[in-house]
Amino acid sequence: MKIAIASGKGGTGKTTIATNMAVAIAKEGRDVAYVDCDVEEPNGHIFLKPEIKEQYDATVLVPHVDLNKCTLCGDCSAACVFNAIAVLGKTVEVFPSICHSCGGCSDVCPENAIDDIPRTIGHISRGVGMGVQFYEGRLNVGEAISPPVTKALRKLDTNSEVIIIDAPPGTSCPVIEAISGTDYVILVTEPTPFGLNDLKLAVGMVQEIGLPHGIVINRSDIGDGKTEEFCHRQNLDILMTIPFDRRIAEAYSRGEMMSDVNSEYERRFWELYSSIAEKVSP
Ligand code: SF4
Ligand code: SF4
Repeated sequence: MKIAIASGKGGTGKTTIATNMAVAIAKEGRDVAYVDCDVEEPNGHIFLKPEIKEQYDATVLVPHVDLNKCTLCGDCSAACVFNAIAVLGKTVEVFPSICHSCGGCSDVCPENAIDDIPRTIGHISRGVGMGVQFYEGRLNVGEAISPPVTKALRKLDTNSEVIIIDAPPGTSCPVIEAISGTDYVILVTEPTPFGLNDLKLAVGMVQEIGLPHGIVINRSDIGDGKTEEFCHRQNLDILMTIPFDRRIAEAYSRGEMMSDVNSEYERRFWELYSSIAEKVSP
């Protein structure tokens, strides 16, 4: 079973929920994997403290022009909607950081002058931490396009019984790449006007894709009740509420689990998983 943990905005506690749920499942003796798809800022490792066993490069294919064959016709440049290849004087310049690796330029080249060559844009780590199989994608600093790293990470598709996917925040392409093909999406929010606004966007996103989903409200006692009202109006399942607790915030800043502060949370996260398993099981 693949469960994605997503959020319309950053800072809602998405990684806290994902890592705590993964550990609670592992403590029940289940084979569980945590996959950190927040590749621009992965931080699940801070909590799971994995021993890294393997690392792979995440690569994309970018065009390389053989100037001995090229006639400078400009067809490749005209075909590229991302302006990532251009004929400049007597050469053809490729701008790899904005290339989307679509292969369009090599398809249209009449001289077969373009080859695709691999370019490393990040890396993927695999290990084990706190009884959880750990996978992390990390985009190299300065790179602009993150979905290929997420795609490479998701392709690894572990054999674990339960796979917890920590999606990046927001509602754009990297999130879609992370949550696609999952069985259930937990949307984590906080009951503030910004939180509610971004929750509405996130709900719209998962409904458009057609994935089953439910809501976890973090710091549930700091707001004005409008998030709950919205959930009730939209018939959204509120799976769990987590009241603000300064001790949890302090534990987070030390890279500790919620159950280190309050052992009740281990049971609550297992129940959260169990309730989702019941919903998605045939
Ligand atoms: S399409 Fe091929 S031949 Fe034409 S400019 Fe581009 S690389 Fe050169
Ligand atoms: S592979 Fe696609 S995005 Fe990259 S330069 Fe060629 S046409 Fe442009």
